[in-house]
Amino acid sequence: MVRLRSFAVILAVAVMAGCGSSGGVGGVSLDQEWQLGNQLAAQVQQQVRLVNDPVALSYLRSVGERIHAVTPLADRPFNFYIVDDPDVNAFSLPGGHVYINRGLIDKADKANELAAVMAHEISHVVARHAIKQAQQAQEINIIGSILLGNNPGALQQLAAQVLAGGTMARFSRKDEKQADDMGLDFMYKAGYDAHGMLDFFEKLLAMERGGNSSVARFFADHPGTSDRIADIQGRLPNYPSRQGQIVDDQGFHELKARV
Ligand code: ZN
Repeated sequence: MVRLRSFAVILAVAVMAGCGSSGGVGGVSLDQEWQLGNQLAAQVQQQVRLVNDPVALSYLRSVGERIHAVTPLADRPFNFYIVDDPDVNAFSLPGGHVYINRGLIDKADKANELAAVMAHEISHVVARHAIKQAQQAQEINIIGSILLGNNPGALQQLAAQVLAGGTMARFSRKDEKQADDMGLDFMYKAGYDAHGMLDFFEKLLAMERGGNSSVARFFADHPGTSDRIADIQGRLPNYPSRQGQIVDDQGFHELKARV
């Protein structure tokens, strides 16, 4: 896949000096990350078809907000979208934009399975994995130039990269594991039965082994799933069942019926 690395040379105009932030990842503050994410989401949304059913969206947002509310970035706005795509996948952009394909909703059987995927994606945002990845790939100056508004071409290329790869940056196995770990924690704190993460990943793995091509993209975007399943299994005793926790609910089945 074409990466933005080539831009780095051209754009190494010390843009970050102009960004003047402190304490951010790679010099990118949370405000800047949200600004970048909003620009990127606007680009991406011109090119993906979204499901606009208000009932479906209202349920998806309620799940997302429930989880988002227990995270350290609860005071930052998050947005949740359903992509009209039959492939099983989900992705997030910097700045709190979380996209769930209708194909993934179709393959989930219970509310806590959807909540697990959303918690995983929210965790990528909270851990700022996209910005960290850009930093490692020495692409931070590109982000800087986009933020300064003087590089529309780079924004478009970044959006094209998202559309081709399902995410702004391909995350490492370490990032994926961290998103699982944080996701389990967040979904549990939000009141969900954490077993939904194991149930859903096991199901997807079985589908992949059975040759179901609709999950291929999910495994490409989320490497190391079988190792991660073992890891999740090992952590589940930390999240014992509680009275009143959410395993399933009616809203989830209404959502399924509508997408
Ligand atoms: Zn992930």
